[in-house]
Amino acid sequence: MVYSGKKASESNEAPVEPRIGVFICHCGTNIAGSLDVIAVKEYALTLPHVVVSENYAYMCSTPGQNMIHDAIEKDHLTGIVVAACTPRLHEPTFRTATANGGLNPFRFEMANIRDQGSWVHMHDWDGGTEKAKDAVRIAVAKATMLEDLYPMAVPVEHRAMVIGAGVAGIQTSMDLAKAGIETYLIEKEPTIGGRMSQLDKTFPTLDCSQCILSPKMAEAGRMPGIKLYTLAEVEAVEGYIGAFDVTIRRHARGVLTPDEAAARGIVGGGCTGCGDCSQVCPVVRPNSWEFGMAPRKAIYIQHAQVVPLIYTIDFDACVKCGLCETACGTKKAIDLNMEDELFTIKVGTVILATGYETFPIEEKSEWGYKLYDNVISSLEFERLICASGPTIGHLIRPSDGETPKSVGFVLCAGSRDNTGIGKPYCSRFCCMYSLKHAHQVIEKIPGCRAYIFYMDIRSFGKAYEEFYYRIQEEGAKFIRGRVAQIQELPNKNLLVVAEDTLLGMPVEIEVDLVVLAAAVQPTAETEVVRRLFGVSCSADKWLLEAHPKLDPCGTTTAGVYLAGVCQGPKDIPDTVAQAEGAASAASIPIHSGQVELEPYYAQCVEKLCAGCGMCVGQCPYSALSMIVADDGRTVMTVTAAKCKGCGTCGGFCPGGAIRMQHFTSPQILAQIDAFFLGGEQ
Ligand SMILES: Cc1cc2nc3c(=O)[nH]c(=O)nc-3n(C[C@H](O)[C@H](O)[C@H](O)COP(=O)(O)OP(=O)(O)OC[C@H]3O[C@@H](n4cnc5c(N)ncnc54)[C@H](O)[C@@H]3O)c2cc1C
Ligand code: SF4
Ligand code: SF4
Repeated sequence: MVYSGKKASESNEAPVEPRIGVFICHCGTNIAGSLDVIAVKEYALTLPHVVVSENYAYMCSTPGQNMIHDAIEKDHLTGIVVAACTPRLHEPTFRTATANGGLNPFRFEMANIRDQGSWVHMHDWDGGTEKAKDAVRIAVAKATMLEDLYPMAVPVEHRAMVIGAGVAGIQTSMDLAKAGIETYLIEKEPTIGGRMSQLDKTFPTLDCSQCILSPKMAEAGRMPGIKLYTLAEVEAVEGYIGAFDVTIRRHARGVLTPDEAAARGIVGGGCTGCGDCSQVCPVVRPNSWEFGMAPRKAIYIQHAQVVPLIYTIDFDACVKCGLCETACGTKKAIDLNMEDELFTIKVGTVILATGYETFPIEEKSEWGYKLYDNVISSLEFERLICASGPTIGHLIRPSDGETPKSVGFVLCAGSRDNTGIGKPYCSRFCCMYSLKHAHQVIEKIPGCRAYIFYMDIRSFGKAYEEFYYRIQEEGAKFIRGRVAQIQELPNKNLLVVAEDTLLGMPVEIEVDLVVLAAAVQPTAETEVVRRLFGVSCSADKWLLEAHPKLDPCGTTTAGVYLAGVCQGPKDIPDTVAQAEGAASAASIPIHSGQVELEPYYAQCVEKLCAGCGMCVGQCPYSALSMIVADDGRTVMTVTAAKCKGCGTCGGFCPGGAIRMQHFTSPQILAQIDAFFLGGEQ
């Protein structure tokens, strides 16, 4: 940014009369098609202190920005108003244009006449025009009172944290570590890998999921740049971009790693993954990783490829008999009295990669999930068809263990569903994995019929449409229509009742097994993490990116980025692409070494502060504290880097001692007056 850099308080010049330039954007026809931009431009010229008023097709374009730049120089402007879209989209653009003209960039104010104007009053030309005039008048009132502000530079820790270690979190961590950034990878489960490690094959190439993921898991587990914490969750967050203090709770695992054993002076000790403990453990529980379709002991690993290869005790199940301790012998890896650990890590940037879970499909009771034995979910299918699964890859009917001779796949089970029970959005990978599932039953079980009940097949990715053709050629039967009901027959077969919308008639097909392609949704833990980091979410609760097209990895919280399905459903190629993008975005501030923070923070006007301290507890970001001032009085002070400018304290202080930069009381009152008095202040 090119501006003088001189602070207002350093200036020797007498205050000058405000000279405001107003620039109205057409946004193509987005604005100009629904309101009279020429009338708004002419109206602006009638407002006090406005010396220039212009309109242009795209103010954000280079010629549009040059108009601002040129007018600042030619007309000696002191403030700029752009009436266009949202500050979220183009505030940085117009600030830069303002600075390029030689003005402090914070002498710019935006009037949103598109999203809050032309778009909501699309069919009310006169009303939309009047509202745009109001918005411009209010913005001009503030622009006359703007002052020079200066961003605050804060140093950035040379460390990052990735929360969630599915394929997204693993990829992001590896990229960051390879870029020389010390990376903390936090995973709530005992192993990394996420959902991808539960899959058998992957569409459209049909390569084995574990075969492509396991090497990555192993590499991430041993990379010197990655510090991995499994069975760990975020407990608290303080700080800001550059210096987040993240408190981690590491749940008691009950088993020591070799390093932890060494730290306790146990020479050559720690878990080697031999499994002797699990052999002797008398407690048997359903293995939740196999969706209860296989047993596990109270001391267990989820599957053979876990990283780290360290056993875990389920303390809710453990009876503390001590048999495992004896079996473990000289390795002395077992600590039945281990407790949770809390520790805090300081990092510069954070990437959320907390993934997804499946929608509780039993809520759609018409399909009989959890009511009928032979109705299973798509993830259960993945485990049953997988060679490392509970049936060593033999697909069976849960009711009798027989091999099915016909399987019905119900797509959009809870997705694209506006009934109130289900999700209105498309889960994006279910069409493709259901095609994969149909292929797997046709390939593995000679003569088995596969029926696919679908609304439309969404095969949008590279080589996906070709995969769809292939499955049709392999003989899968496609029935276009939503399944209304599934009925269980006395022989435990299932009658799938649907409408074939291509034939325009109802159909009833009897099958041995039904697989529901359940919708996906954000996990409950994602909501906890979202709140801790102050990240927004969309109406459907997926984490919200800073901009859907131009900043898909960023969030509105500076220094926090998104990777993978926590931002919205996406398949593995898209997940990995976003993970690489997030790593790149998160490494920029770290490699820059410092970032500039918005100067929108609170300030204490010491002479007005009564020292009551009541504001301190109000700040949600712990930005306020009490100090002894030079004159010996106790007053409040603000840690500017922690302040998010929310204004809570400013509104709270009974003595009016807190001033919010860029949102001062006089500025806000001027805007209110401009609205109510129509400019006659
Ligand atoms: C049945 C089925 C079949 C599929 N088949 C394919 C396929 O063939 N090809 C394909 O491209 N895609 C497929 N997919 C999609 C694929 O599963 C996803 O694209 C991929 O797993 C997304 O990875 P992720 O890392 O974003 O999320 P996840 O795999 O969900 O990983 C998220 C990780 O974060 C952890 N976590 C969550 N919250 C926290 C927290 N608060 N603290 C710490 N850790 C946390 C979780 O434990 C998990 O390990 C399939 C999906 C399903 C349901
Ligand atoms: S102490 Fe707990 S984990 Fe160990 S063998 Fe006994 S029940 Fe199993
Ligand atoms: S404005 Fe006040 S309450 Fe809000 S973050 Fe800043 S100091 Fe805290």
